[in-house]
Amino acid sequence: MRHWVMGAGLFLLLGAFVSGTAAQDNLPIIDMHVHTADGTVQDQVAVMDEFHIVKAFLSGSLEEVYQWTAAAPGRFIASPMFPVFGINGFPDIEALRAEYVAGRLQGMGEITSQYLGIPPNALVLEPYFALAEEQDVPVLIHMAGGGAPYPTFRLSAGRPLLLEEVLVRHPKLRIYVENASYPFLDEMTALMRRYRQQVYADLSTMTRAKQRSVFHNYLRALIQRGLGKQLMFGTDGAPARTPQNIEAIESASFLTDEQKRDIFYNNAARFLRFTDEEIAAHHDR
Ligand SMILES: [Zn+2]
Repeated sequence: MRHWVMGAGLFLLLGAFVSGTAAQDNLPIIDMHVHTADGTVQDQVAVMDEFHIVKAFLSGSLEEVYQWTAAAPGRFIASPMFPVFGINGFPDIEALRAEYVAGRLQGMGEITSQYLGIPPNALVLEPYFALAEEQDVPVLIHMAGGGAPYPTFRLSAGRPLLLEEVLVRHPKLRIYVENASYPFLDEMTALMRRYRQQVYADLSTMTRAKQRSVFHNYLRALIQRGLGKQLMFGTDGAPARTPQNIEAIESASFLTDEQKRDIFYNNAARFLRFTDEEIAAHHDR
């Protein structure tokens, strides 16, 4: 983004008169969706440094997550991804609780149960949501009308309203849904409007849609429906493509500067309950 903004240097000189495109320069970003499987921790930290990404929600096997958090302390929200396809399945709940209690984990997910055809209200997931609520950690879940090709993936297990009972059962649960459950816009709208404190969404892989207008149309609809305070930037890994993720939001001309700041930072800071001190530090104040 830095390079991109330099291209608009003349406008930057006009400082206060500029609105829109250049406003994100050097302001902090939170990436709510990173995986250990994509690239190395060095690649990831390099791109975070370049684009002032102050924190990333890191999802993967515990072994890899701990390797990354040891290599780059303070940069990640450490979180277990499960069920791992056909290998480890669901982690032992007591072992997992011990990791939270010890402070080694600060998030839960990405929960990928849809890839096994398991809906979010299935009994097998219940102890994990209870644990996330008990430990007061944010949860990332894949619920969408699409996903990587995997034979047991089921579209029907990704419908947003399947999450409703979970939210009612766990009123303190904070959960965010990958790609705002694209393309299940209506159900997602209803869910996010009724459960505003509990349900947020990331804008991650969809920012790399082959047709940019597909992403922008979906984002515009979410904004028009009053959900702009619940949307959070994410990359879904692939550090080399992070500039593309950022540019996809920067180029949304229908967004105000404030709405962009909300997506890049403010909403995640609120969802993650960053303190005023942490927020000030992220802004170098
Ligand atoms: Zn993911």
